Amino acid sequence: MERLILWDVDGTLLSTAGVAAEAMRAAIREVVGSTAPLARTTYAGKTDWQIIRESLPTLAPTEISARLHEFAAAYLARLEAQREALVARSQLFPGVAAILAALGGAARQAPLTGNLAAVARLKLECVGLLPFLDLAAGAYGDDHHHRPALVPIAAARAAQRYGHSFTGRQVIVVGDTPYDIDCGRANGARTVAVATGPYSLAELQAHGPDVLLPDLADTAATMAAVLG
Ligand SMILES: [Mg+2]
Repeated sequence: MERLILWDVDGTLLSTAGVAAEAMRAAIREVVGSTAPLARTTYAGKTDWQIIRESLPTLAPTEISARLHEFAAAYLARLEAQREALVARSQLFPGVAAILAALGGAARQAPLTGNLAAVARLKLECVGLLPFLDLAAGAYGDDHHHRPALVPIAAARAAQRYGHSFTGRQVIVVGDTPYDIDCGRANGARTVAVATGPYSLAELQAHGPDVLLPDLADTAATMAAVLG
């Protein structure tokens, strides 16, 4: 049985230490000007579309939707301009490169993230993870604003690329937030939660993942846990 492992990016594989969040806020400010109040919102587990909408509670959703391409372009441009800072400040969580390399012989691997596709590529490139993940088989924040909708998109892309379908528990969703667990379960996938993001082991446990890990540092144990 071939498996498809779908990896969340922020909080699961890497942290940009605030570089991306700063670029996002600056991009929103650039697009809407200084008149609209910028609400503080949590970013973890949400798609970039959700973050933009929640950051601008006084703007009509229709206006935000109509201008999403402007936000995306401004965000990507600011992040590209911060490439050196991204390389210098981004960090992989312990064991990430080793587990991706180890699982590469046992499964297909792709990102499943709320990041815009171009943003995900840039973040992964800056920490050297592009060789381990098939970005064309992944799903991203610009595919849909609702995270659970991303799992079938990634599965369909993987099916197209590898010539057979990935269904039910052949699909494994790995992430650091309740949103990751919920999006995997909503699609019948196996869910693996890892507590390297803002949520504690206890908070993640409350959402009932199939597997719960403190981090990805123990390659052998993580491999067994992920594959089940
Ligand atoms: Mg995350």
